[in-house]
Amino acid sequence: MSARILDGKLVASRVKEEVATAVAGLDYIPGLATVLVGDDPASHSYVRGKRRDAEQVGIRSIHHELSHTVAQSALDALIDELNADEEVDGILVQLPLPDGLDAETIIERINPAKDVDGLHPHNLGLLALSRRGLRPCTPSGIMRILDEYDIAVSGVKVVVVGRSFLVGRPLALILSEKGVDATVTMAHSRTRDLAAETTEADILVAAAGSPGLITAEHVKPGATVIDVGVSRTDGGLVGDVDFESVVEIAGAITPVPGGVGPMTRAMLLVNTLRAAEARRI
Ligand code: NAP
Repeated sequence: MSARILDGKLVASRVKEEVATAVAGLDYIPGLATVLVGDDPASHSYVRGKRRDAEQVGIRSIHHELSHTVAQSALDALIDELNADEEVDGILVQLPLPDGLDAETIIERINPAKDVDGLHPHNLGLLALSRRGLRPCTPSGIMRILDEYDIAVSGVKVVVVGRSFLVGRPLALILSEKGVDATVTMAHSRTRDLAAETTEADILVAAAGSPGLITAEHVKPGATVIDVGVSRTDGGLVGDVDFESVVEIAGAITPVPGGVGPMTRAMLLVNTLRAAEARRI
C-alpha cells in the first residue's frame, strides 16, 4: 500500500491565509527585512521566495543585498540599523554566508525580538527552557504539518536523524516538551546502527542532508516519514529519503519538493507576525 502524502504546499497555503487575515486586521504593516550576501543562486532564489511570500500576506519586504566582499563591520552596521528601525519587525540573514563572514556573530547581533529565524542563542535558550519565544521555522513547520494531518505525537517514539541547531536539535526539544510528549531519539553521523534506531520510530524525521540516506529498510511499516533534506542534484531537488521505496512501506510521507520546504517559508511569516505583535504590546 502506498503512504498518504503529507502536502506541505497545501498546509503552507492555509498558514499563509491565516497570516494574511491577521495582518489585514492590524493597524500597522509588519516589516520583514531580508539580508542577502553574495551571489549564491540558491540563496537568491530562497530570498526571492521569502520576499514574495511576505508581500502576498501583506507584510512589507525590506531587502538588502550586499557583495560577497562586504566587510564584517559593514554587515554588523546594517544589522544595528535594522535593529533600530521601527519599521522592521523581523530580520532574516540568509545563510550560508560567504567565506570570511561569521554567521554566529551576525545572528547574535540581531535583536532577539526581531530574530524571526529563531536562531539567536536567546531564543534557542527559551526553547530549551520550554518558554515562549521565536522558534526556528523548520521545526515549527514540521509540528504544524503533523498537527494538520492529525498525526499523534504524544507518547509515540520519534527518531530525528540530524542534530543541527537549525533543525534536528530544536525539533527534538519541541517534540520532547511537556504537553507534546514524544519520546525522542536524536541520531547523527556517529550513531552506531542507524537502521536499528530508525526502524523503532513511529515518526521518522530525516534531516541529514544526505540524499537517499533513508531507504525502506530504515522504516517501520506504517510509520510517518518527514523528509527535511534538500540536496540539489542533476535530476533536481532531492530529499534524504528514497521516496520510491519508502512510500510503499510508510503510513504517511512528505515529498521533496512540496513537503517541509513550503512549511518553513510559511512559518517565517508566522514568526514575523508574532514578532510584530510582541513588539507592540
Ligand atoms: P547540517 O548542519 O549539515 O546537519 C546535518 C546533521 O545530519 C548532522 O547532525 C549530521 O551528524 C547528521 N548526518 C549527516 N549525515 C548523516 C548520516 N549519514 N547518518 C546520520 N546522520 C547524519 O544540516 P542542517 O542544516 O540540519 O540541514 C539538514 C538538511 O535539511 C539539509 O539537506 C538542508 O538543506 C535541509 N534543510 C531543509 C529545510 C527545509 O525547509 N526543507 C530547512 C533547513 C534545512 P553530525 O552532527 O554527526 O555531523
